[in-house]
Amino acid sequence: MEGDGRAQQTFDLVQKIRGNVRRYPDGWGEAAPLTGLLYCADCGGKMYVHRTNNGKRISQYTCSQYIKVPCGTLCKTQHRINEDVVLSLVSEMLKAIAEYAKYDRAEFVRVVQEVQSSQQTTEVKKQRTRLAAARQRASGLEVLLFEHCAKIDEATRNRMELIVPELAKRNGVTEQLKAENQMEWVRQMNACKAQAEEIVKFELIYD
Ligand SMILES: [Zn+2]
Repeated sequence: MEGDGRAQQTFDLVQKIRGNVRRYPDGWGEAAPLTGLLYCADCGGKMYVHRTNNGKRISQYTCSQYIKVPCGTLCKTQHRINEDVVLSLVSEMLKAIAEYAKYDRAEFVRVVQEVQSSQQTTEVKKQRTRLAAARQRASGLEVLLFEHCAKIDEATRNRMELIVPELAKRNGVTEQLKAENQMEWVRQMNACKAQAEEIVKFELIYD
């Protein structure tokens, strides 16, 4: 089949192109462990590792906000930071922490727990504030909705009071009919009400 032949051709072409791509001896190597986890001190944007810099294969963290169009408006420089510098700083810090933990384990545990619980408290406080604001907003909306419903309700009633008698008159549903044949009068009045409801519904939706 022609379709299958074309798919095979495309597949072969893709394989050929992939085969031509120049690869680094060890591929891309391991992923940089902190890419997307460092934040720019100038703009707060995420920093990602880029592995090329004018042809030199040096892994560098750069601010992702810098390249956002128009370039340089969100963050004024790209901030190239060599990955190995970051990693050695982090590992020095980890070593210092490990030393400290060995030196006074009880105090270390206490400090870590204190920091964690204060972070949690701050987070809980933030969430509570957000919740209170959301509740207030919700009750405000509820009031608005209630007022709106009340208005629609009143408008509907007013229109029904006008339209039903008019329809009854037009359809000959008279006091005489009510006296002579009450069942028929009720049936015809109900029909008028149903028709009036349709009219009011239409007015409310499309006016
Ligand atoms: Zn930045």
